[in-house]
Amino acid sequence: MRKKVVAGNWKMNKTPKEAVALVELLKDKINRDDVDVVLCVPAIDITVVADAIKGTNIKLGAENLHYEDSGAYTGEISAPMLDEVGAGYVIIGHSERRDYFKERDDAVNKKILKAFEYNITPILCVGESLAEREDGITIEKIRMQVKKGIKNCTDEQAAKIVIAYEPIWAIGTGKHATNEQAQEVCSEIRKCVAEMYSDAVAQKTRILYGGSVNAANSAELFAMPDIDGGLVGGASLKEDFAVIVNSAV
Ligand code: PEP
Repeated sequence: MRKKVVAGNWKMNKTPKEAVALVELLKDKINRDDVDVVLCVPAIDITVVADAIKGTNIKLGAENLHYEDSGAYTGEISAPMLDEVGAGYVIIGHSERRDYFKERDDAVNKKILKAFEYNITPILCVGESLAEREDGITIEKIRMQVKKGIKNCTDEQAAKIVIAYEPIWAIGTGKHATNEQAQEVCSEIRKCVAEMYSDAVAQKTRILYGGSVNAANSAELFAMPDIDGGLVGGASLKEDFAVIVNSAV
C-alpha cells in the first residue's frame, strides 16, 4: 500500500510573512498522519516555513535546486543548502521551469541524482502540451520524460521518487484531466518505471496527478488506482489545500 502524497506548489507566491500566515491557517486543519503533506515554497520562505511547521506533520519542500553543490551560479540554490534547512522534498522539472527557464531532461536527471545524494526526495514533473495531446503523442512524450528523467537511479531511489503527471494544458487553467485521462497516463508512468527498474520497484513509486486540482475534484482523482495523491498549485495557496489533503483516501 503506497502512502499518499499531497504536495502544494506555491510557485512565486507568498512573502515570508504571508507564508507563515498560510501555514498557521492550514496547520490545525491538516491532521492526516497517513498522508505525506508537503509544502514546496519559494526559496526565501523556506526557513520561516521550517519554523512554522515544527510540531506538525507537514513536510518542507523546495521548488527547484541546482545540480552542483556550490559555485558560480548566480541566483541558484543547492541541495546542501536545502538539506541544511530541513527541506525533505524538491520539485524538479516543473513545466514552468522547462518552458520559461529552458530546463532540459539531462539537467532534470542531474538534479534528481543530486537531490538523492542529500536524501531529498525529488518530485519529478512530466506532462504534455495540448498540441501533443491532440497529435496523439501524450504517452510517447511522458515516457521520454520519465526515461530521461529517472535514469541511473538505484532501485531504492526509483522506489522513493515521486513522479507528478501534470498535463500542461491543465496547469492553472481550471480545466483538469478527467479521472480516466489522469489514470491512463499515471498507469503508463508506472509501466515505464517497471520497464526501467522492476515491477516491485514500480509498485512502490508514488505517482501524482497535478493540474487544476481543487477541493471538488481531488477525492475522485486520488481514488484512481495509479494516482497516489496530487501536486497542487493555485488551490495550495488557501484553506482549500487542507480540504484537498483531507480528501485523500
Ligand atoms: C502546478 O503548477 O504544479 C499546478 C498543478 O498548478 P495548478 O494546481 O494551479 O493547476
